[in-house]
Amino acid sequence: MNQIIEELRSFLSQPQKIVITTHRDPDADALGSSLGWASYLLKKGHEVTVISPTDYAANLRWLSGMEHVLVYEKASEQGKCKKKIEQATLICCLDFSALSRLKDLGKVVQDAAAPKMMIDHHLEPEHFAKWMVWDTTAAATAQLVYELVKEMEGGLPADQIFDIPMAECLYAGIMTDTGSFRHGNVTPAVHLAVADLMRTGFDSSRVHRLIYDNAPLSRLQFLGYVLSQKLVVLPEYRTAYMVLTEAELQKFNSASGETEGIVNYGLQVENVVMSAMFIERKGEVKISFRSVGTFSVRDLASAHFSGGGHKNASGGRSEQSVNETVARFLSILPAYREELLSVD
Ligand code: 5GP
Ligand code: MN
Repeated sequence: MNQIIEELRSFLSQPQKIVITTHRDPDADALGSSLGWASYLLKKGHEVTVISPTDYAANLRWLSGMEHVLVYEKASEQGKCKKKIEQATLICCLDFSALSRLKDLGKVVQDAAAPKMMIDHHLEPEHFAKWMVWDTTAAATAQLVYELVKEMEGGLPADQIFDIPMAECLYAGIMTDTGSFRHGNVTPAVHLAVADLMRTGFDSSRVHRLIYDNAPLSRLQFLGYVLSQKLVVLPEYRTAYMVLTEAELQKFNSASGETEGIVNYGLQVENVVMSAMFIERKGEVKISFRSVGTFSVRDLASAHFSGGGHKNASGGRSEQSVNETVARFLSILPAYREELLSVD
């Protein structure tokens, strides 16, 4: 880490043209960490552009700097994105470590001449970056951005480095990736980072409200429908799952991002240690997995559903029909039964 800090300090001592990008369907950690890092680099006099591969959920629009984020998938912004990447002298890749997570933007980033820097906390990274700030023990990429900026600034107290909008962006990422500080990834370092960020005086309760208590009525009605009609519990495998078809999403007018987090409800059922959600969208099935304790949904996602992520939160996708995908999921459960039953 020390050597990376030295090299970055020297590289960033000259004004650079920096592109920051993050994974498709970006969540609060992806965008919060990207915007927090962007804001630091802007303050240091660099030219910075944040590019998201796809559109993002409406409850993240308030994050500071979001108004300047370019969306690669939007036809009207793609040309500008390509130009920025072509001209870039540094490309920062935040909250992902496999270029496939960028969708079509992955190839553009891969082919770009600029050196790359990765800031990420996912398992098994690809090695495309010159500088890797990578730590799977970090609860969030936003925590890594906090720690990196602190090191770059020689450990000054947060209120001398960060302003309120930056602290809100980083807090949003840490808060959401820890499930509001309740997942197994919460460590003393998480609370220390947050305590330090709170010196800036931002309102943490407001951030929570803006993210979690800011949903259109349709999202709550949709959630009610999913929990009452679609949640299946298999006590013999300590597993819960939900399947949502494209027609159901349309019926509830569910925009991209509105299904975010619903998979977690499966874990609220007593004795359940794995929850899965299958969503049919645009001709493919997107799968979200969550687990508790020793059971690794990352291993399951990577072995069977071309996915990955973290031990207790992972995702994948399938090009089979939704029925075939769910049948495949059910068929592999016996092989995991012993492991599922042994979770403490
Ligand atoms: P979510 O269920 O919220 O979409 O994703 C949970 C976690 O799994 C996130 O950390 C995300 O980065 C990871 N993840 C989701 N989908 C995929 C995927 O298709 N491939 C990989 N490698 N990781 C994924
Ligand atoms: Mn993250």
